[in-house]
Amino acid sequence: MTSSKGQADIIIVGAGLAGLMAAWRGLNRNPDVTALIIEASNKIAGDHTWSFNLSDIREDMRDWIRPFIAHQWSSYNVKFPKYDRDLDIIYCSGNSDSLRRAVTPFIKSGRLKVQLNTAVERLTATSVTLPSGEVLIAKCVCDARGFKPNENVALGYQKFVGLTIKTKTPHGMTKPIIMDATVEQLGGYRFVYCLPFSDTEILVEDTYYTDGPQLSENEINDRIVEYIEKRLGIDDYIVTRREKGVLPITLGVERAYGEAIDEELQGPVLLGMRGGYYHAVTGYSILEAAKSGEVIADMISKNAPDFGKAVLHEMTYHKRDHYYEEKFMRLLNRMLFRAAKPEQRYKVLERFYRLPEGLVARFYRNRLTKKDKLRILFGKPPVPISKALANFSESKFIERELLRK
Ligand SMILES: Cc1cc2nc3c(=O)[nH]c(=O)nc-3n(C[C@H](O)[C@H](O)[C@H](O)COP(=O)(O)OP(=O)(O)OC[C@H]3O[C@@H](n4cnc5c(N)ncnc54)[C@H](O)[C@@H]3O)c2cc1C
Repeated sequence: MTSSKGQADIIIVGAGLAGLMAAWRGLNRNPDVTALIIEASNKIAGDHTWSFNLSDIREDMRDWIRPFIAHQWSSYNVKFPKYDRDLDIIYCSGNSDSLRRAVTPFIKSGRLKVQLNTAVERLTATSVTLPSGEVLIAKCVCDARGFKPNENVALGYQKFVGLTIKTKTPHGMTKPIIMDATVEQLGGYRFVYCLPFSDTEILVEDTYYTDGPQLSENEINDRIVEYIEKRLGIDDYIVTRREKGVLPITLGVERAYGEAIDEELQGPVLLGMRGGYYHAVTGYSILEAAKSGEVIADMISKNAPDFGKAVLHEMTYHKRDHYYEEKFMRLLNRMLFRAAKPEQRYKVLERFYRLPEGLVARFYRNRLTKKDKLRILFGKPPVPISKALANFSESKFIERELLRK
């Protein structure tokens, strides 16, 4: 076994959203630092679209995120059986191309080295063992290998199939439809999501909030085609891209991540879905990937040249903060997944989207005020009250669902 030092100051394993965001921001703010990113597949950034509300991103971080934004809309629409509403919340989408473009200058200058086709299984706070047995040493090692199920966490799932279509004539849709829940409800909360990238290009995604992760891709594909033809009235088009996803929706966590703090301080630094950094209700992680990139960049600049321990320490506590910040979101998920019957789940969202626009934006940003939380919970509940009360306590829920299994 050989061991090499000095390949780079930081090694990041996993060149997806979180790994690349951390490399981008870390190198951008720290001109003397170098990084190596190691990726199992044959390209960085995969083949994705990542969407978010502009208001999700902290004001002081928007300038550096801007090059990632490939599409932006000034408002969006939601549809439920009882109403239809436009929200003046700026909606944005980035994609694999815009993410690759953002890190290309660092690759060209040699400050970001990329090693593809290399699946790494052994990482510590300061070392990465390659499949060849070679051990690379760095000041800081980050694990950004994507989601890994964790036995301390009770999950529901958001699963979807999406088709990007190119239409022969302009389709006429001018703003995204973030949720069209007027479709038949099947096995859970179902909605269709439409993003018009241009006059003749739309991403149409059929999404399900269900108890299990199984995805019937062909059936969902047929339903999307039906939606495109019958609801959108488009029949002359070609499919240019397909995507699918099964995202974790956290209902409860057995122990605060902070309780394992000594263990976690051994490293490596966890990033992205691997570290549980996603919005508990949507499974979306762009906001957290950007925040982690900022924390890492900040710790490097405050502690250079020996920043390794400071990054690990700060990120370990950052993870604990995320766990506490998401407590209310997990409660909402239990209402959605355990208090409401699967086909009635849409009522929870139908009620939520009647609330003021500012509250909706704060919900996605995970910055609800106490008053917001009260507004969400009080009033005529869209779920049976007895079931709501039975699922209120996270510790009792966990004991029932995880520990007694
Ligand atoms: C189809 C789809 C659409 C989504 N849309 C959105 C959205 O619109 N907005 C949003 O915020 N979130 C979205 N998400 C959720 C989430 O933001 C993404 O999954 C996001 O890519 C997660 O970032 P990540 O860096 O944690 O993982 P990934 O982006 O999945 O990156 C992990 C990387 O690690 C690599 N890897 C895995 N194992 C190894 C190994 N052993 N060694 C080396 N490399 C390894 C993988 O090949 C991959 O490149 C979506 C998810 C999916 C699947």
